[in-house]
Amino acid sequence: MSEYPFLDLQALNAPFSQQIRQAADRVMRSGRYIGGPEIDAFERELAASAGTPHAVGCANGLDAIRLILRGLIELGRLSPGDEVIVPANTYIATLLAVTDCRLTPVPVDPDEHTFNLSAPNVEAAITPRTRAILTVHLYGRVAWSPALRQLAIDRSLWVIEDNAQAIGAVSDTPGVCSPSLHTGGLGHAAAFSFYPTKNIGALGDAGAVTTHDLQLAQAVRAIANYGSDRRYHNIYCGLNSRLDPLQAAILRVKLPHAAAIGAARFARAACYNREISNPLVTTPAISPAVHDHVWHQYVVRIADGRRDHFRRHLADHGVATDIHYPTPPHLQPCYRGTLATGPLPVTERLASEIVSLPISTATSVAQAAEIARIINTYR
Ligand SMILES: *Cc1c(COP(=O)(O)O)cnc(C)c1O
Repeated sequence: MSEYPFLDLQALNAPFSQQIRQAADRVMRSGRYIGGPEIDAFERELAASAGTPHAVGCANGLDAIRLILRGLIELGRLSPGDEVIVPANTYIATLLAVTDCRLTPVPVDPDEHTFNLSAPNVEAAITPRTRAILTVHLYGRVAWSPALRQLAIDRSLWVIEDNAQAIGAVSDTPGVCSPSLHTGGLGHAAAFSFYPTKNIGALGDAGAVTTHDLQLAQAVRAIANYGSDRRYHNIYCGLNSRLDPLQAAILRVKLPHAAAIGAARFARAACYNREISNPLVTTPAISPAVHDHVWHQYVVRIADGRRDHFRRHLADHGVATDIHYPTPPHLQPCYRGTLATGPLPVTERLASEIVSLPISTATSVAQAAEIARIINTYR
């Protein structure tokens, strides 16, 4: 193992180990291994934290997005073939959910400083078939603004948040249909992932949907449970994508710490931004509003084809790094030539320049300062 691991999951969960054992024991003794009080309580607590009236647990983050889109289709609000605007530089799950529902993803270049969708780029991609914006709070930074909000309202677009990376982040701009400022409450509906590497991670797969819309919440809940609205009565051709009560109980231990985890990650990001001083390394934009970014990833840019050389320098000094993501979805073999995209120069350039540094709470601020010093010796 390197001296500075990228993400030590065991160390990340160690502070919670006693509470996690107690939570698991509670589930064991309850005899409720599907649904039950831990699921109900987790859904209530997640909805409260996102500022939405409804939350529905599900199996993972990809399913959370699929369930929202399937729900909107079942309710007649979206139809197969409708266009959904997505950031081109997202993780492929965002697009897989769209194509799985036979909707048409329209990948759009991000703003190169925030890595997120911008209103002008979204507006330029709108066609008469555009029905929804699937905004991704990439790397933990809120992808929402007064201009995006106004655009969604003016064009009557559904706003769906892919909140896999930004649990606990707070926007300056209220939601499209509510005063909520929390990610997960900004759109009509939002998808959460609790994959173990996320800011709030389960000990396995887990996900959830939050929404302001009772009908959509009911549709999502039914679709995730075989399309069943009551026992042995199936109103949709559904799937099995239920949240595991064991994971729900574990997530209830960690969920109250979402804001603190975001703030701890911000402290590491602020250290990097303060200490990294190397003309070959571009650090990410950091806003003084501490809460609008929970730093799921800390991503620097290395230009001129030197990225691999830079990563080797860090590896030689014991610093593990990663790339999120080396190949954008539209260039993946499964999508090659099938997505109707214009040129995506920003996405493709970013994919060749980005490097993620260790940022989790398992990396101390002092270690971040040491990593910055190692970066400053790169030539
Ligand atoms: C992790 C992630 C997902 C998928 O979540 P899973 O729980 O792994 O299915 C979707 N979108 C983004 C942006 C993610 O980072």
